[in-house]
Amino acid sequence: MMIKETKIMNKTEPLIFEISSPGRRGFTLPACDVPEKSITSFIPQNMLRKLEAILPEVSEIDVVRHFTRLSQMNYCVDTNFYPLGSCTMKYNPKVNEESARLEGFTNLHPYQPVEQCQGILKLLYNLEQILKDISGMSAFTLQPAAGAHGELTGMLIIRAYMEKQGETRHKIIIPDSAHGTNPASAALCGYEVESIQSNASGLVDIKKLKDSFTRDTAALMITNPNTLGLFEKDILQICKIAHDAGGLVYCDGANINALLGMARPGDMGVDILHLNLHKTFSTPHGGGGPGAGPIGVSEKLKQFLPVPRIEPKDNTYVLNHNCPNSIGRVRAFYGHVGMMIRAYTYLLSLGKEGICKVGEFAVLNANYLRHKLEKYYDIPYGKICMHEFVISAKRQKKKDVSALDIAKKLLDYGFYAPTIYFPLIVEEAVMIEPTETESRETLDAFATAMIKIAADIEQQPEVIQKTPKTTPISRPDEVKAAREPNLRWEKA
Ligand SMILES: *Cc1c(COP(=O)(O)O)cnc(C)c1O
Repeated sequence: MMIKETKIMNKTEPLIFEISSPGRRGFTLPACDVPEKSITSFIPQNMLRKLEAILPEVSEIDVVRHFTRLSQMNYCVDTNFYPLGSCTMKYNPKVNEESARLEGFTNLHPYQPVEQCQGILKLLYNLEQILKDISGMSAFTLQPAAGAHGELTGMLIIRAYMEKQGETRHKIIIPDSAHGTNPASAALCGYEVESIQSNASGLVDIKKLKDSFTRDTAALMITNPNTLGLFEKDILQICKIAHDAGGLVYCDGANINALLGMARPGDMGVDILHLNLHKTFSTPHGGGGPGAGPIGVSEKLKQFLPVPRIEPKDNTYVLNHNCPNSIGRVRAFYGHVGMMIRAYTYLLSLGKEGICKVGEFAVLNANYLRHKLEKYYDIPYGKICMHEFVISAKRQKKKDVSALDIAKKLLDYGFYAPTIYFPLIVEEAVMIEPTETESRETLDAFATAMIKIAADIEQQPEVIQKTPKTTPISRPDEVKAAREPNLRWEKA
């Protein structure tokens, strides 16, 4: 029998409502064996819906196939390379998932008495200790639900500290290369944000910092390595300038891959640091899933950390709510505990030696790629990078091909697009972070695609401009869904 080749994967998938067929069900109930009662005997008439709910009528296999097909139209770190700068899309080992799904954890309830939750409290406490070791900070809270939430928590702590000192400082200084959440968190906390321009090497301009850091300044908010992938080599002097002026130093450690096992922000003089478990510590993110942005503080700021504090006491763990200077809770219960279990598993399975290798290989991989690409693209800042580097597509722009076009073309080659147009101080920025989990073969394949794109831009730029061609959707309107969301299904 001849079988014709058919295309299995559709480029489009109908809505689940569109595959609905009247009366089709995913289950059948046995005949009722108790006397039937009208629904109005349970729910008052006025609370019953007037129109029947519009629900898809589908079988189980319809549901399974629909959502499996949808999932295959997506892109993920489990299928391909994901060099999204500043986001650290590293591979998340599956053992993390197994731990998080252990019944002893999944069946816990946050209102359960502390005596019955000793295991998870010990895990959370131990995780805090490891993060302290890695970062050099004096104490941690795991409560913040994301990096930006960690920043806000940090800002609240800075405010509480200043108030306790009787100070009314109202300004936070932030370098112009910072992640957008930095100024947003400071402003949300009522601070005035002063942006300082980076110097020609892409680092904090010491002179500008000295001039700007006055008695009105509560803190400097710095990212190290910064978003250009460069290490702030003057960090000791930078912290001294802030401290000498009576201020604090907040460090954005969302992407701390490069420092793991190499250097510790606490030793550099940083007063508050946030870490993103969902970037550096291998808990999955993307698609709006939960995050976790623990913050570490120096000794003098410990008293302001959110409550409850998890503390060891006579071979057990207790929750201490009695912290008079605490800024209070920042999250219901203890934050996103599932992410903490994953991060803890990751850290234990790597061990101290493995953690040091993360830093080494993250930096090695980024420099390997940077070196392969530097002949074909402009790399405006830095010769040696840390965990990521930023290309400028301004040379390509002259041929009418933008950073966006390059990112889109990469999708056709099976790679996720790097971060583009960030940091803002690089024209036509393409920010690449390979992470330590990728093999040399993968890095070579990516470099080959990037070099081919550069060559095509020289010879036939139109080939790059109208891409991607192989993805289910080519170029959606990037703001329409946010500006005019249409979340209703109406029967045609
Ligand atoms: C991701 C990131 C943040 C924000 O973290 P979220 O968890 O997305 O809120 C802050 N700063 C830097 C440098 C980041 O990369």
